[in-house]
Parts: sequence; C-alpha cells; structure tokens
Amino acid sequence: VLPSWAERWGIPTPFPVGDVNTFYLAGKQPALVDPGPKTPKAWQALSARLAHAKVRRIVFTHYHADHSGLSARLQSDFGVEVAAHRIDGEVLAHWGEHGEERQRDYGEGLRRAGVPSEHMEQMRYGGLKIEAMADTCKPDILLDEGDRIQLGDLEFEALHTPGHTAGSLLLRSADKRATFSGDTLLERITPNAVSVRASERSALPAYLNTLRRLQQEPLGVILPGHGNLFDNAPEVIRLALRHAEVRQERLERLLRERPGTAWSVAQRLFGQLPENQLFLAVSETLGHLEALRRAGRVESRSEGGVDVYEASGAAQV
Ligand SMILES: [Zn+2]
Ligand SMILES: [Zn+2]
Repeated sequence: VLPSWAERWGIPTPFPVGDVNTFYLAGKQPALVDPGPKTPKAWQALSARLAHAKVRRIVFTHYHADHSGLSARLQSDFGVEVAAHRIDGEVLAHWGEHGEERQRDYGEGLRRAGVPSEHMEQMRYGGLKIEAMADTCKPDILLDEGDRIQLGDLEFEALHTPGHTAGSLLLRSADKRATFSGDTLLERITPNAVSVRASERSALPAYLNTLRRLQQEPLGVILPGHGNLFDNAPEVIRLALRHAEVRQERLERLLRERPGTAWSVAQRLFGQLPENQLFLAVSETLGHLEALRRAGRVESRSEGGVDVYEASGAAQV
C-alpha cells in the first residue's frame, strides 16, 4: 500500500520498538519525514541513503529522539529546512538547555508515583541516554493545525494531535488519501501518552480526545512512525479506545481491592516486566489514573510526598 510518491527507509533505533520509519519524498521539494535518532548506526544508515538522494526539507512528527534526533545534523551539514509543530518545535529548539530540568521533572514524577530508589537510578540512566540521542535544533518552519506544507511534489495539511506528545503532528495529503502519523497511530502498538512529569498530567486524556477526533477524519492509508503501513485507521482507533477502556476498568477494580501508588498498581496490572519497560508501564498507569481521577472514578491524596490512589466511594464497599 506504499504510495508511489514515498519511499520507506528503516532507520535503526536502540529502543525495543525497533526501526523508525523514515519516509523520503522525491520531487520539487525533496523531503524527509522523521530523520531518526542521533546514534552512529542511524547516521550510518541515513547518510548511506542520502548519498543517492537529494533532500531540502524535513519534518519531524514529534520531538521524541527516535524521530527528531538527527534534525540538527541535517540542518547544519545539508542546509535542509526543518519543520515541526510549534509546540514540539520549541522543545527541540531548547533541547540541550532544558535537559537537566526535564530529567529532574521526570525524577520528581517517578518519585511521586512511588518508584523505589533501586529502579530510579536505572530509569535516570535511560533518560540520560535518550537526551544524548538528539541535538538542539531550531526549526525553520513552525506548523499549526490546518497549515499546509509541500513535501516532494505534494501538498500536506498539518493536523495537531496532542497526546503522545503535546505537539504531535499528523501530515495528511491534500487529497486525504494518505497520512503520516508518527507515533500517534500505530498498527499493533498502543502508543504511550507519556504522563510522568507534572506538566504532562493531561497527556492521556488529550490522547483519547485526539483519537475520538481522528475517528471523524478521513485519513486514507497510514504511514506510521514504526511498523507496517495500514489502511484501516478507523478500526485501529476503535481498538485503541477499547484498550484504554479495558485498562481503566481493570485499574479501578484493582484499586477497589486496595489503594496504592501508581508503581504498586502497575506491578499488579503488568506483573514482572523487564527493567527497560518499567518507565513506560508507570507512565501508562499514571495516564489512566489521571483519566479515572478526572472522571471521578478514582481519588488521590499525597502521603509523605507520594501519591496514593483509591477508588471513589471505596470506603462504603
Ligand atoms: Zn514517540
Ligand atoms: Zn517512536
């Protein structure tokens, strides 16, 4: 289903998700969507491709390093124009400058979630490795909902889809027959609306709203940030919404049995997880707990600097 105007280049990432899909569009405005992470392996793979392909413009779908990391290098070495949504564009524009503060905020969020100190060090190390996979890059073009941008020979429309990150972007072809989705829509993976820092508390509720909005949008074939292309977006969205509903019902049930921190309830929800998946497990749990709290189904209180959750009305049960 890959449209004739796009090439898919698999660029390696060190994350469990595997390659990132970097899309190349030849033509009047030769362009890349999501150049990949700043790692030696990714650069090797990308520069081998660029030896045979001219590029003038790149767009990153969101600021995560596996998608945006090489933007700065392409901007400085190849003189390409960089475009992004204005929110995530600002994040990458201040990437190095805000790194320490960002990691401190993640640490604070994980502590409040009740993560034991022996796991904190590992997560902190993971965070620092990710910081190093992107360079500060000031985008030349900041996009907003409804803006148009030419990639290759085609015109695309920006859809602002907050959730996975606050400035996540979909790029839909003007004929509405194809859409680059970044990590907002993936065929087999439920994207994580990272919810650890105090500033990202509303990420999961925002993501669910984005999914409900996208149910109403013609998107055509989806060119996602990872994995295979797919043309059944309405079904993928329906399943993602259903998945969230089931997770939240289960969390509410677990808290009705006994209250707990996000960490303790994540253990009960996911069981034993490998160390490198703990961060995303806590993040997803925090996101659903916040959605439940907003719906009045769960309450939280601070106990010695740690947030403890319980099901609403649990005392009467
Ligand atoms: Zn991402
Ligand atoms: Zn990704």
